[in-house]
Amino acid sequence: MIVLGSTGSIGVNALHIAKRFDLPVEVLVAGNNIDLLNRQIAEVRPKCVVVAQKESVPLVLHDNVLYGEEGILDAIRTSMSALVVNSLVGFAGLRPTIEAIQCKKRVALANKESLVVAGQFIDISKIDPIDSEHFGLWYLLQDRPVEKMTVTASGGSFRDTPLHVLEKATVEEALNHPNWSMGRKITIDSATMTNKLFELLEAKWLFGIDKLDALIETKSIIHALIDFKDGSTTAHIANADMKLPIAFALLGSVEEQILKPVDLVEVGSLEFRKIDPARYPIWEIKDAVLENPHLGAVVNAANEVGIAQFFAGKIGFMDISRKTIAAYKAFEDFKPLNLEDVFEIDREVREFTERM
Ligand code: NDP
Repeated sequence: MIVLGSTGSIGVNALHIAKRFDLPVEVLVAGNNIDLLNRQIAEVRPKCVVVAQKESVPLVLHDNVLYGEEGILDAIRTSMSALVVNSLVGFAGLRPTIEAIQCKKRVALANKESLVVAGQFIDISKIDPIDSEHFGLWYLLQDRPVEKMTVTASGGSFRDTPLHVLEKATVEEALNHPNWSMGRKITIDSATMTNKLFELLEAKWLFGIDKLDALIETKSIIHALIDFKDGSTTAHIANADMKLPIAFALLGSVEEQILKPVDLVEVGSLEFRKIDPARYPIWEIKDAVLENPHLGAVVNAANEVGIAQFFAGKIGFMDISRKTIAAYKAFEDFKPLNLEDVFEIDREVREFTERM
C-alpha cells in the first residue's frame, strides 16, 4: 500500500497495523518530520518516498525520493499498490484522493476534507473511511430501516471552560484535548466543533442519509448511534483508539483483538450533552450546511485559513468560527458544477478570509 502522511497521528497508527498484519508498504509520503520518516524507511523499506519540500530531499535516506504535490500524484500513478491510505491533513488531500480513484485504487480515507469539499464528485464505492464515528455507523448498520444516525463528540479542549475565557484561549490550551491524541488541525477542529460538522457531511455522502445529528458524550466511549425505524437504538462502544477503524479500513475484516474491550463497570457512568452554539458558534450553520453540503468547500477553506492565523497568533480562538461563518454567508450562493469549481472556490474563499 501507499501511506500518505505516514509521519502523522493516523499515518503512524496505519504503519503499526501494516507491521502487525504484514502488509507491504510501497510508498511513504511525509511533510517535514524527516527524522521520523527516515526511521520509518529503515523499518518498512518502501520503493519510493515523497516529501513536501525539495530542500528536504537530500536529508532523506533513500535513493528514490520525489517531492511536492506532483511527486505524490506521480507516486500514486506509478505504484503497483491497490490501496492508498490518505492521512494527509486539509485540502491538500483532495487531489491525491481523486488521483487514487482515477487509478482504480481503493482509498482508506482519513483525510475527511476530501469528502467535505468534494463529496458529490467522489466515487464513494472506492472509499473506506478512517474515522471512528463512520466506522461505528458502518459497524452498527443492519439490514433494517434506519430512522436517524448520530455521531458523538468529545466536546474538545474547551467543553468545560467558562465561556468568557474562550476569547483569550491560547494555542497550547486549544491543543490540550481531553480524550484523543491527534494532529494539531483536527484537535482545533474538535475544540470549535467544526470537526463534527465535517463528520456529518462525511456521513451524508457515505451513507446517503439526511437525518443526521451529533451530541456530546464526554468520555468518547460511544462513537456512533443508530435509531432504527422500529424504535430501537444501538450504540457502537470502543476505547478511543484509531487502530480499530484503521485495521478495518486496511484489512476489510478483522478477527483478532485490536483493542481491549471497554470495561463498563470501570467507566461507571456516561454523560451526554447537547451541542450549544454559544460555545460552538459553528453549530449555528450546521443545518444550512447539511442542506447544502457543497458549501463544505467554503467552510473548509475559511476554517483552514482561520486555524493557520490562530496558530500564527494573528487571531483569537473564537475568531476561527467567526471568520468561517462570515465566509459561509458571503459565498452562500456558490454551487459547483465540477471539481474545477471546487478548486476555484477554495482559492477565492482563502483570499477572502485572509483579507477579512
Ligand atoms: P497530522 O497532522 O498528525 O498528520 C498529517 C500528515 O500529513 C503528516 O504526516 C504530515 O507530515 C503530512 N503532511 C502535511 N502536509 C504535507 C504535504 N504538503 N506533503 C506531504 N505530507 C504532508 O494529522 P492527523 O494524522 O491527525 O490527521 C490526518 C487526517 O486524518 C486529517 O484529515 C484528520 O482530520 C483525519 N483524522 C484524524 C484522526 C486522528 O485521530 N488523528 C481521526 C479521524 C480523522 P509531517 O508531520 O512530516 O510534516
